[in-house]
Amino acid sequence: MAFLAGPRLLDWASSPPHLQFNKFVLTGYRPASSGSGCLRSLFYLHNELGNIYTHASVLYHLFMCHQGGSPVYARLLALDMCGVCLVNTLGALPIIHCTLACRPWLRPAALVGYTLLSGVAGWRALTAPSTSARLRAFGWQAGARLLVFGARGVGLGSGAPGSLPCYLRMDALALLGGLVNVARLPERWGPGRFDYWGNSHQIMHLLSVGSILQLHAGVVPDLLWTARHACPPD
Ligand SMILES: [Zn+2]
Repeated sequence: MAFLAGPRLLDWASSPPHLQFNKFVLTGYRPASSGSGCLRSLFYLHNELGNIYTHASVLYHLFMCHQGGSPVYARLLALDMCGVCLVNTLGALPIIHCTLACRPWLRPAALVGYTLLSGVAGWRALTAPSTSARLRAFGWQAGARLLVFGARGVGLGSGAPGSLPCYLRMDALALLGGLVNVARLPERWGPGRFDYWGNSHQIMHLLSVGSILQLHAGVVPDLLWTARHACPPD
């Protein structure tokens, strides 16, 4: 990638208050920019570059320095939370669909129940005052998924035999990413040493990519299994 010469970057104390969410990232903050200025930041080094290039939540990380300030930032964060909530919701529905393939009454009830729970989780994440509150907002969804996995593990559910370990790895990676992000590690141990590369948010991004790949690895054989599976007569 050819890097352009960027504008002079700011340190933590001189960045706008709504961008001071990680006090262990000391330098590399972009100055307030127009929309095209934010786009231009795709091509020079700053402390959000790694986050932009390692994730689907590109819009939030790319435009968070927009000159519209905290109202624009709040909307971008809401959009980001909607994305997380959609992945958590749409990712789990095929798992429930396969797990309860032979339970014609319970399956639609569980699908609707999980969707409603996701609505509540999404709203709580949107209105959460902190990173840890946002992580907790998705806790009920994770609990419901664990219930589904548990049912499957003890033989109450159906599905492809190799898919359950993928789903467990999926949630383990997502949880680990969330905890690393809340703990602000490793930059807490070396403030300023991970400003550009290797900080907690980037690690969370990479772990969440791994989590989604585990979902894919589990869901594809699961759906194929369910399509071919004949349920025993009652
Ligand atoms: Zn992010």
